[in-house]
Amino acid sequence: MKENLTIKEAQQLVDQWIKEYGVRYFSELTNMACLTEEVGELARVMARRYGDQSFKEGEKANLGEEMADVLWVLICLANQTGVDLTEEFRRSMEKKATRDARRHLDNPKLQA
Ligand SMILES: [Mg+2]
Repeated sequence: MKENLTIKEAQQLVDQWIKEYGVRYFSELTNMACLTEEVGELARVMARRYGDQSFKEGEKANLGEEMADVLWVLICLANQTGVDLTEEFRRSMEKKATRDARRHLDNPKLQA
């Protein structure tokens, strides 16, 4: 696998894996449930690492692994619903740089 991966390449890699090993995509609703499950696993690690909870015996601080799990399922959902994540991310960044450009700068709660 290439060291630097574009979002488009990540979408293609997931699609190839599904076709080669996954038989087929889970249904959209099943993957939505899987995404929720993975976000919950990420939240558990965050709560133990940065929050007030402690890791139980044998639990790992696998923050990156859980983020990758979230990304994997999100990419599955994008692929099976025809979403080009590169284009959508680009649009999102443009919106943040235009419509929302002053939103955080003008938020007094964010001032030190
Ligand atoms: Mg996970």
